[in-house]
Amino acid sequence: MYNFPVKIKLIEAKSVLTKSQLPGCDYVINPYTGCTFGCSYCYADFTKRFTGHSGDEWGVYVDVKVNAANVLEKELERFKRKRLNQHKGLIADNGTSSKIIKILIGSVTDPYQGVEAKYKITRKCLQVLEKSRFPLEVSVLTKSHLVTRDIDVLKNIRNVSVGMTITATDDTVARILEGNAPPARLRLSALKKLNQAGIETYVCVNPLLPHFVANEKKLRKLFDAIKKTGNKEVWLEHINVGGNRLKRIKQMIVNKVPEAAEAFEQAKTSKYKDDLNRLLFRVLNDYSFKIGGGGIIDHKRKAIITNSNKTLKVKKGWKLDRV
Ligand code: SF4
Repeated sequence: MYNFPVKIKLIEAKSVLTKSQLPGCDYVINPYTGCTFGCSYCYADFTKRFTGHSGDEWGVYVDVKVNAANVLEKELERFKRKRLNQHKGLIADNGTSSKIIKILIGSVTDPYQGVEAKYKITRKCLQVLEKSRFPLEVSVLTKSHLVTRDIDVLKNIRNVSVGMTITATDDTVARILEGNAPPARLRLSALKKLNQAGIETYVCVNPLLPHFVANEKKLRKLFDAIKKTGNKEVWLEHINVGGNRLKRIKQMIVNKVPEAAEAFEQAKTSKYKDDLNRLLFRVLNDYSFKIGGGGIIDHKRKAIITNSNKTLKVKKGWKLDRV
């Protein structure tokens, strides 16, 4: 399963559905704790503190929530009962209320990392969602082509989409910055397969990598490759080099792509972000992508950046900025 040492622990989860403040979702499901893809820019390493992994390096451990599907089933049942009580008189014929709950699978872990091939926790959770009569919108976010294994289940979930994170077309970028995640070419071909199977997809260009995409030629190459797969929606998010992430990234690239180190340093400045926002909107004019979340996401500032005059409703605690 792995060609490097990984600590794999089987655990029992107490809960699986977690309320979320992320744009575009109400709840998240993380079938695993930790992520063996070990991307250098990953912000999910903060989870080490409260999952008993303070002393572990990010990317070399994973806890498998073996009972996740059972817990999820019970939580959805509870949800349904609560909703039915709240919405007396507003219940649809199928016994559910009409308000749709948006669930994202994989906010602080990759649901299709190596262990999924063996334990199938994500697949089992999807099977629970497939059978649930609760009105849901389900989105699965991954960097792995393994997601295509579950096309049969995904096809039966009414409101489902698969998000594929692709940060550059160059496979070496994945090798350098995304540790053990599958190369970009496998992600792009998985995206094509999903689209051919009629499953809605979106691409997360998250984070927007300085040096690797923050120039017009590379950006166009990436958007062209995404377009060819049949994908129609992109989510764009600025890199957050806070905490010890900048240090970690620089350690990984300094010997391999020394000129990129300075670009990552610059990514902290407002000038870098303003220039990139303008470039993105200009280039996007030539593609007909839908922009997920309504604009470019700047997580650090909790801001959505748009180039439109339309009013956009943003989540509590978030603000709307214009280029
Ligand atoms: S795949 Fe996602 S969760 Fe996993 S290490 Fe990379 S950024 Fe973090």
